[in-house]
Amino acid sequence: MSERYDAIIIGAGIIGAAVGLELARKGWKTLNLDKLPAAGYGSTSASCAIIRTHYSTLDGTAFAYEGYFYWKDWARYLGVEDERGLAEFHERGCLVMRTAANGYLDKLLEHQRAVGIPFEEWDPATIKARMPHMDVDTYGPPKRPDDEGFGASTGGPLRGAVFFPCAGYISDPQLATHNIQRAAEAAGGHFRFNAEITEIRKTAEGRVAGVTLADGSEIDAPVVVNVAGPHSQKVNEMAGATADMNIATKALKQEVVHVPMPVENWDEIGIVTSDSDIACYTRPEKGNFLLIGSEDPECDPREFVDPDDYDENFSEQWNVQVMRTAQRIPALGIPSRMKGVVSLYDASDDWIPIYDKSCVPGFYMACGSSGNQFKNAPPAGAMMAALIEQVEAGRDHDAEPVQFHMPYTDRTIDVGFYSRRRTINPESSFSVLG
Ligand SMILES: Cc1cc2nc3c(=O)[nH]c(=O)nc-3n(C[C@H](O)[C@H](O)[C@H](O)COP(=O)(O)OP(=O)(O)OC[C@H]3O[C@@H](n4cnc5c(N)ncnc54)[C@H](O)[C@@H]3O)c2cc1C
Repeated sequence: MSERYDAIIIGAGIIGAAVGLELARKGWKTLNLDKLPAAGYGSTSASCAIIRTHYSTLDGTAFAYEGYFYWKDWARYLGVEDERGLAEFHERGCLVMRTAANGYLDKLLEHQRAVGIPFEEWDPATIKARMPHMDVDTYGPPKRPDDEGFGASTGGPLRGAVFFPCAGYISDPQLATHNIQRAAEAAGGHFRFNAEITEIRKTAEGRVAGVTLADGSEIDAPVVVNVAGPHSQKVNEMAGATADMNIATKALKQEVVHVPMPVENWDEIGIVTSDSDIACYTRPEKGNFLLIGSEDPECDPREFVDPDDYDENFSEQWNVQVMRTAQRIPALGIPSRMKGVVSLYDASDDWIPIYDKSCVPGFYMACGSSGNQFKNAPPAGAMMAALIEQVEAGRDHDAEPVQFHMPYTDRTIDVGFYSRRRTINPESSFSVLG
């Protein structure tokens, strides 16, 4: 006799766990399966876990602001204790530079105003007064250290920056995922680890019937959800669900730098920065370190890889990110030993995720998170559960998209925004900023 569930969720990263939680809360008998040994051990564990609301689309902005309230209200969202303690939201704020690359934030601020998100405009003198360690000259468009003129100012001081107080980071993304696992289990959800799915089985009519694991065991469910992170394309292919997808997902190598921060107590007082003039974002890390990620400028090669076979070592990109950040923080030392993480984004063609059904009845996808959906995992879980429930009840989501009401912001999102069949969204930043 094979086991049977109402829904199998492939993956127990932060988004997979949140989908499991919300379906379990609706009374579904759920099973999250992950080939790794624990929840949040995939790309989630490498996440900088920055919580911010500056997105380039109105829907992306509203969704991120909804997510922010879940992190503020974390204990209530979970509703249970975790023996390991709860993940902590360091709400320090985020400073975003006004640059040519982001249109000096004019359009982006329209979205922030429309959603009612607070912000402060800082001129270069204010940046310097609050962050004396920062150089406020313009260096963009971003270059590589070997390029002529690297490190030379290209046009006097920046036009200023915008400070978003409703922002910060979660210091332990894996713990946050474990927290959600515990909440899902309390709601009746199940998790199984070291369980690799190698086949998605279907009925004679072509509906999802269940999965087969690498050890040959079969588990039945009429609903299977692909939340496989950088493996999402492989899982969509396994399900035969790519035929009507207009947006593809691919695994993209990323390096995050971990260096000592030359400003005392930065880990206690420091804020998040997002700086498209030098194409890097930063956040404080405990032990008074700084994490530096890339904002994916055009001059950097994009390395799409096979998620099961790629070079997990640092490359020249590590140096590039430190050198670029040293333009803004001249006192930043460059250690001889490279530290940080090498991981993968599950990048979609327009850097906006896919939260959708598929052409295979019973098969759903929450993928293409493009390095920017950790913060959105809680509302994404709730939105996916609403979508699955309505489609299983007979709604034709492709023709008449589900409308998802977001309780904290009291806004409704047209879930068709995240469709696999959308045309590429030209408003996207086409970078990790979404
Ligand atoms: C370097 C980096 C920095 C980031 N920084 C931020 C940030 O600052 N802010 C932000 O909001 N987002 C950030 N992100 C993005 C965010 O971390 C991801 O969007 C999020 O963690 C994705 O969660 P997930 O559950 O979809 O995927 P994952 O965490 O990748 O989980 C997918 C799981 O599926 C499992 N799996 C895959 N295939 C199979 C199979 N066949 N059988 C069984 N299990 C399978 C994997 O083992 C994995 O555990 C960052 C990502 C990276 C890589």
